[in-house]
Amino acid sequence: MIINNIKIVLPDIIIDSGSIVLENNLIKSINKECYSENTELKIIDGTNLTAIPGLIDLHIHGANGVSITDKESDSLDRLSKSLTSFGITGFLWTTMAVSIEDMDWVMNQVSDFTHQQGAICYGVNIEGSFISTGRPGSHLTSHIFEAEIPLIDRWIKLSNNKIKIVTIAPEKTSEQFIKHLVENNIIPSIGHSHASYDQTLEALKSGASYFTHLGNATGMIHQREPGIVGAALLDENSLIEIICDGVHLHSAIVKIFTKVKGWGNVVLVSDGTCVMGMKPGVYKWYDGYAKFDGTSLKLENGTIAGGVLPLNKALKNIIDFTNCPLIDAVKMTSSQPAQKLNIYDKYGSLEVNKIANIALINKDYEVEYTFVEGQLVYQK
Ligand SMILES: [Zn+2]
Repeated sequence: MIINNIKIVLPDIIIDSGSIVLENNLIKSINKECYSENTELKIIDGTNLTAIPGLIDLHIHGANGVSITDKESDSLDRLSKSLTSFGITGFLWTTMAVSIEDMDWVMNQVSDFTHQQGAICYGVNIEGSFISTGRPGSHLTSHIFEAEIPLIDRWIKLSNNKIKIVTIAPEKTSEQFIKHLVENNIIPSIGHSHASYDQTLEALKSGASYFTHLGNATGMIHQREPGIVGAALLDENSLIEIICDGVHLHSAIVKIFTKVKGWGNVVLVSDGTCVMGMKPGVYKWYDGYAKFDGTSLKLENGTIAGGVLPLNKALKNIIDFTNCPLIDAVKMTSSQPAQKLNIYDKYGSLEVNKIANIALINKDYEVEYTFVEGQLVYQK
């Protein structure tokens, strides 16, 4: 297959009008010229479109009516397929605080999941289970547990080593637990926590290297207690998640975070919930309800209940909010997530011999085509 007459975002430069040749599941060549020879290959005309590496959403609970709490046997498959409409070609299925049995179910689902005509599920992100009951956000406090090694080991085993990120609250998490995560190739992520600056530094020293939606459920900087946000912004070895929907964080906060931390240390996530991609209305939330007004999803008490803006629109926002060049913005949605998951040798950028996971977007950042492993899986 050939994608022709297309603007192409490469890691270091942008080709204004060229072509990409896909063969089997790989990018065979990227050319500065448009393709003009006679060919039997299928040609997709990319006029007025831009090719970017497929988006990788490391923090997503659901979308398009599918939620991780549905517990339907085809939930993950439906989610994987529906995410391609946002240009997402890879994701981590992210858990809420639910019972141990329900967590077991998620681990089983992910352990033997194979995507078909959909985005690749790279594994599980455990968000709700080990957080602070004092900063639960919309997670159910009755299903928050102590961070204990036997419990995480149970889920590592059930998921067949598919757990990639675990959110921990430093004030209730032992050094031993954090080190155990690292030993199992799991990224300890600081979030949903009351931790002080010093407690956060300790957790970083133990191996934490990521921050769950910084600025949401983490407090903010106080003049005598820099807290999680202060530690996160100053630390040079970690990445921070930003929910760039203009609701979770003021655009000026996004600007401050990216300015201090650097675009190269930021991962954009949707924190998507079942209403992402759906119409405004009232939706089921655990045993109660949450209201979606078109721009935000809130519980009855006003707490924001996760994200509703898909990652392709967050890509537009980060450029609008910070004047970030497209090349750097794409790194926040594709390259840096892949690097953090240690899969950048195959995914996360448009380069010859990488897996052909590609999104074609228009000038409004709407997705017109999505390719996963060289196959066209979504067309608007
Ligand atoms: Zn979340």
